[in-house]
Amino acid sequence: MLRRTASLLLFAVLALSAAFAQKPQAAAPEKTIAIRAANLIDGTSAQPRHNVLIVVRGNRIVSVSEGGSAPADAETINLGANVTVLPGLIDAHTHIFLQGEDPAEGGYDAQLLKHPSSYRAARATVSVRRCLEQGFTTIRDVETEGAGYGDVGIKEAINAGYIPGPRIFASTRAISVTGGYPLEGYNPDVPVPKGAQLADGPVQLRKVTREQLENGADWIKVYMTHRSWVDKQGHLVSQPTLTVEELKAVVDEAHGQQRKVACHAYGGIGLHRALDGGCDSIEHGLDLDDAAISQMKSQGTWLVPTLSVYYYGWAPEGTPDGKRDRARASLHEVSFKKALKAGIKLAFGTDVGGFAWSDPIAQEFGYMVKFGMSPMDAIKAATSRAAELLEMQGELGVIANGAYADIVAVAGDPLANIDALKSVNFVMKDGKVFKQQ
Ligand SMILES: [Zn+2]
Repeated sequence: MLRRTASLLLFAVLALSAAFAQKPQAAAPEKTIAIRAANLIDGTSAQPRHNVLIVVRGNRIVSVSEGGSAPADAETINLGANVTVLPGLIDAHTHIFLQGEDPAEGGYDAQLLKHPSSYRAARATVSVRRCLEQGFTTIRDVETEGAGYGDVGIKEAINAGYIPGPRIFASTRAISVTGGYPLEGYNPDVPVPKGAQLADGPVQLRKVTREQLENGADWIKVYMTHRSWVDKQGHLVSQPTLTVEELKAVVDEAHGQQRKVACHAYGGIGLHRALDGGCDSIEHGLDLDDAAISQMKSQGTWLVPTLSVYYYGWAPEGTPDGKRDRARASLHEVSFKKALKAGIKLAFGTDVGGFAWSDPIAQEFGYMVKFGMSPMDAIKAATSRAAELLEMQGELGVIANGAYADIVAVAGDPLANIDALKSVNFVMKDGKVFKQQ
C-alpha cells in the first residue's frame, strides 16, 4: 500500500515537472572519437590491417579506413605503434555468481550454503568489472549457481550505468533433473539449495523453461550430463540427465520464443540426447565421438569447449577423482582437435567462475592454439564467431561500420604471441572509454 502511495506521488511530481517544462530538453550531442590503430585485427578479415582510423559516434562505429584523417569535431586517441586493436572480446561461457571452487574456501557448497544473496551479488559486481578490465565486453553467462535471477539484476544495473560490466546474455537458473545437480551428499531430511532448477517430465520442464523466460532469460541452459567417472574398462562415463522427450519440451518452448538452448554435455548417452533433442550449443563436449561430430556438423550445432577450466585442481593421481580429472583433460584435447578438423562451429568460452575471476580469462586462447587452432581463428572464436552464436553478427565482435563501439587494444602482436591477449591496456564499451593505460 505504502508503495502504491509513493509511486502515485512520484507520478504526480513527474506530471507536474512535465507541465512546467517549456520545451523538450535537447539531447546531448553524440561524442565523436577517432581511434588510430597501428595494427587492427577486425574480427572477420583473414589478415591484420595497418594504420587504420576508426571513427566512433555515440555508441557505434561509423567508419573504418586505412589512413584517413579524423573529423574536425573528433577527440583523437592514438594507441601507439606497438599495439594491436581488436573488437571487444566475447566469452560465451561464464558464471559471474561463482567464485572459483577452491576447497580451502569451502568449494562450491559454501557459496550456496553460507553466503547471503547480497554477498553473492556484491562479488558478481566485482566479477563483471574483472570481465571488462580484461577486454571482455560481452559475455553469455550460463547460470547463476543457486543465485536465482541475480544475473538479470546485474545486467540491468550495468545497462542502467550503475556499475561497469560487459553486455550480458543471461541464462538465469539453468535446468537439470532430480539427482542431476549439486548440492548433494547431505542428510536427505535436511533441505539444501540446488545450483540449478530441477524438474522432471516434459510438463514440468516446459513450465520451468517458461518461468525462466518470463523472468528474463536470454538463453536457456540445460545440464544434459552430470557426474562423471572412469569405469572398469578405463572409459570416462557421464551420468545422463534429461530424456530426449524432456529436452524437446525445453527446446520447443525456447525456440518458440526465439531463444536458444545451451547444453552442458560431456559425452555418451547425455551428449547424444542433447543432439537428438536439438540443443543449439554443446558446452564442454569433452568426449565427442565420431557420430556426435557428424551430427553436430549436419545440425549446425555450436561447440563451446572451455578447455582451461579442466586443468585446474586435479585430485591426486591414482585416486578415482584423480583418474577422472586426467581422463577429462586428455579426452577434451582429442575432441577439440576432432571438432577443429571437422569444421564444427566453435565459439570461445572459459567457464570462468569455475576458476577464480582473479585469473586471466584469456588463458583459454593459449590452450586453443596449443591444440591446433590458428591464433587468428582463436581470436575469431572470441569475436565474430561468438557474435554469430549470439545472433549479433555485424553488431558485436567486429570492427566495422555500424557495429557497437566495443574496442580493445593489447600491447604487441597476439598473432605472434597469443598470450598478449592477457594484457589488455585499452577498453572501450558502447562508445565509452573504460580503461586506458
Ligand atoms: Zn559452466
